[in-house]
Amino acid sequence: MLYHSTRGLDGSKNFSEVLHSGLAGDGGLFVPKFIPKLNMETINEWRHLSYEELSFEIISLFSGDCFSKSELIEIVNNSYSGFQSELKSPLIKLENNHYFLELFHGPTLAFKDFAMQVIAKMFAKTLQKKNSIINIVTATSGDTGSAAVEAFKNVSNVNLYVLYPHERISRIQRVQMTTSNAKNVKVFAVKGTFDDCQSIVKRLFSDKGLVNDVNLSGVNSINWVRILVQSIYYFSAFYQIKDHSDRRVSFSVPTGNFGDAYAGYLAKKMGLPINKIIVATNKNDILDRVFKTGIYKSDSVSKTLSPSMDIQVASNFERLLFDLLNNDANEVGKLMNKLASKGSFEVDKILKSQISKDFSSGAVTDKDTVATINQFFNARGITLCPHSAIGVRVAQHLVKGEETVISLGTAHPAKFKETVETALDMTIPVPLVLKDLIKKQESVKVICPDTDLVAEEIRSSYLRTN
Ligand SMILES: *Cc1c(COP(=O)(O)O)cnc(C)c1O
Repeated sequence: MLYHSTRGLDGSKNFSEVLHSGLAGDGGLFVPKFIPKLNMETINEWRHLSYEELSFEIISLFSGDCFSKSELIEIVNNSYSGFQSELKSPLIKLENNHYFLELFHGPTLAFKDFAMQVIAKMFAKTLQKKNSIINIVTATSGDTGSAAVEAFKNVSNVNLYVLYPHERISRIQRVQMTTSNAKNVKVFAVKGTFDDCQSIVKRLFSDKGLVNDVNLSGVNSINWVRILVQSIYYFSAFYQIKDHSDRRVSFSVPTGNFGDAYAGYLAKKMGLPINKIIVATNKNDILDRVFKTGIYKSDSVSKTLSPSMDIQVASNFERLLFDLLNNDANEVGKLMNKLASKGSFEVDKILKSQISKDFSSGAVTDKDTVATINQFFNARGITLCPHSAIGVRVAQHLVKGEETVISLGTAHPAKFKETVETALDMTIPVPLVLKDLIKKQESVKVICPDTDLVAEEIRSSYLRTN
């Protein structure tokens, strides 16, 4: 399988190149030349596979000859060994036809562990073969960073730089990143928003000299392999519904950068019988607005109770545009240029109606987030994290009658302890792993949103280690 950029210039890359590069050289995102379509027979055959076997089958469709069969089996087997659930992504019932997919049983208690663990094992394998060093830089709204630190700490041939928005993430998220004590990890608290962090990362990648000099790489959800690996749990969720045989299911996805939602769209394109991907946002509702009005316009970022979704530039939306514009990189480039110069663009009527075939959307206020957390705790004894509550809320509003919907549980409530405890007016149990972290020494550098400074840090520590 070969890959090219959504903006057309960076053609014919293989899986390993796409794994190692964050962004394409022309500023676009990598996408495969085509998306393999599975028939229902194959999809049903996979029903009885373990999570690891399912991962192997799905990744193999895209990874070409990057790994041998035994290497890929080793990678997937090692990736999920730290998960606290046999099923990896267990499905529970919330109400009638409404299910909840628990994606927070990995080592850092958020769905980001799924892809990050796999990517780290893939990096280790490919770099060992090439005997080269790579510098990974990632912007995080909290959970990507902690999953990346956990997955990459002490991996040889990798240095990891994490940028998070200063004082805009939860305490647990922070200590998960700052207490690794690993020599190959450096954490920056950027005085700004997630979008400031993400734009530093994008600028670093547009510096061709730096990218080549230090082998710069990215593991944000702009990395194709993350999207691919996240599509696996949509299959797993589908298989866990017992009485769905003749029905399609919808998924409600709490969304920030549109990575997880796009992973669902990928599963649908591969043939999984998905009805709608429901995109659920907080007050930072750029995606809800574009789905309703056709106008993609980023606003300033508001701080909410669901900080991992405090994002106003939904990078992966570009992949959807590319797909719906029939892989017309020129058109995508035009829209993205408009976004850069005018701060917005509008999709035409045809495109908008195409989008609404696959997606619906809703935005949820902090007040309703709190109400939803209370509702499920009181009715069912289920504690939702604020992000998961947003997905659940939008699903309740949009899904009518007999339709089956699965809401994604994106993080463990204890990761957002303060918010959940305030909402419920009681203390909640905290898993042991988190309790231990809070006692550890933190290491973090607070900086202004300054791309040059980060570039210099990466260069100088690369020179020291090389
Ligand atoms: C990252 C994250 C999201 C948003 O996911 P995207 O792929 O960026 O849309 C939602 N909830 C939690 C808990 C997250 O960590």
